[in-house]
Amino acid sequence: MTPANSVEEKREKLESIAANVRGCTKCPLHSARTQAVPGAGRPDSDIMFIGEAPGYHEDQQGLPFVGASGKYLGELLDLIGLTRNDVFITNVVKCRPPGNRDPLPEEMDACVPGYLDEQIAIIQPKIIATLGRFSMALFFPKNVRISKIHGQPKRADGRIYYPLFHPAAVLRNPNLRPVMEEDFKRMLDLLEEIEKTGGGTDEEPPKPTQLSLF
Ligand code: URA
Ligand code: SF4
Repeated sequence: MTPANSVEEKREKLESIAANVRGCTKCPLHSARTQAVPGAGRPDSDIMFIGEAPGYHEDQQGLPFVGASGKYLGELLDLIGLTRNDVFITNVVKCRPPGNRDPLPEEMDACVPGYLDEQIAIIQPKIIATLGRFSMALFFPKNVRISKIHGQPKRADGRIYYPLFHPAAVLRNPNLRPVMEEDFKRMLDLLEEIEKTGGGTDEEPPKPTQLSLF
């Protein structure tokens, strides 16, 4: 029998989600897509990257981050000694919004619970690195600005949520390159931290007296 949560079991579960994504008609984005883009990478990855939505090339190939942003993401991974096969890469919504417009709240609401949430539950990454403001907004307060909180890890749920600029934003504004690279390099320290501590949280733990009130 396959042990629970083995890589093979995770792979099978992810493949079953991917099949559901490819046949999904839960929101209007299904009608204009060439191919849905469920996500790709290692089923038991420590690091999961979440972008915004597929663009033109992703829609053509059915794979995440294969255009200019993806090329840059590959370079950033290379900087920290990783390849795309070492991590899992996906998006908030799995189908391309027409003309690369922003995904609408109702599209994200339709997509995230059945697909992204399930992928996170299966992979159980130690670090969730958000790329851009749409995935950031899933895990951080709505009113925070990416320019303020990028590179600042949030420890919760036994993992680290790590907000990063979107690679496309860095390509548009080369001044952000050194910052993005520093943020990326820090991920290795965060991995080491979480491997030592097993997670932890930014919230103050309850005081011992509070634990024995009865
Ligand atoms: N931009 C994204 O947010 N996701 C992709 O997959 C490609 C470009
Ligand atoms: Fe389904 Fe998500 Fe594609 Fe909408 S974007 S059709 S919810 S897979």
